[in-house]
Amino acid sequence: MSIEVKNVTKIYSNQKALDNVSFVVNPGEIVGFLGPNGAGKSTMMKIITCFIPQTEGQIKVCGFDVTEQPIDVKRHVGYLPEHNPLYLDMYVKEYLDFTAGVYKISNKKERIKEMIEMVGLTIEQNKKIGALSKGYRQRVGLAQAMIHNPDVLILDEPTTGLDPNQLEEIRNLIKQIGKEKTIMLSTHIMQEVDAICDRTIIINKGKIVADDLTKDLHNIKSNAIVLIVEFDKEVNKSQLEKIDGVLNVLNKTSNTWFLEITSDNIRNNIYQFAMQNELTVLTIQKETQSLESVFKNLTK
Ligand code: ADP
Ligand code: MG
Repeated sequence: MSIEVKNVTKIYSNQKALDNVSFVVNPGEIVGFLGPNGAGKSTMMKIITCFIPQTEGQIKVCGFDVTEQPIDVKRHVGYLPEHNPLYLDMYVKEYLDFTAGVYKISNKKERIKEMIEMVGLTIEQNKKIGALSKGYRQRVGLAQAMIHNPDVLILDEPTTGLDPNQLEEIRNLIKQIGKEKTIMLSTHIMQEVDAICDRTIIINKGKIVADDLTKDLHNIKSNAIVLIVEFDKEVNKSQLEKIDGVLNVLNKTSNTWFLEITSDNIRNNIYQFAMQNELTVLTIQKETQSLESVFKNLTK
């Protein structure tokens, strides 16, 4: 597993920014972390990259624990922070040289040249960062995040504030990089995960709302009845889809599923399915508004 987040809670003085969050990111995935402003995206990313500690729970990156092995974690993870606080007075190469020094990279010059080519900075490489457009600044940020060749990249809202052309270019660059690295990127825009990510984790008010294939998120029907069903063990999505009366299935968290159903009286079918498959239904709840309203909010 590239990233393993288990029951993580973060409390800032008196505010709960993350509430019992769990998910995994597998090697090679490009996962979207989608949620409205204030949902807890940046907080989660700062914890994964060892910038701030969690209040509770456990996180591993490439098998290393963020609390116990922060140096190993930092060696394996590259981070593009939200407001990409680049030093505007520094020259592009000077800044990358500085970053390469922090990571004690031996063949600095060569590596900086490689990075400049990889992120498409060649024509701007001799400028000061302050003289670059937002799109090119993001390229510098990406080069900085990858200079030590990490396996995992954490990109916090990497395309916010870009114009449509820059947006397209940075999206393509991220997809290109994603062929070789594991990427988790945050955004508050649904179209963004559609364009880049196979899988999307939706977070709202510090809680995971859904975690499934991006294309399946669009199957949510606004007026269907939705049940939240929690089993004691893992269940296969295709099995759940076969239950009579179930229209659509969406993963919430590991053993918890959203089932869109035709009518309330299919609950018995669910219990029967569980018995046949030696599962226990821990809870069945009717979904009131969170999924739909969150989703509407993100797609408008
Ligand atoms: P997002 O990145 O999804 O917009 P954040 O992780 O930045 O969300 O913030 C989640 C919540 O935590 C917000 O309500 C925010 O106001 C609060 N928060 C973030 N950072 C701090 C901090 N340093 N001190 C207190 N509250 C914070
Ligand atoms: Mg943020």
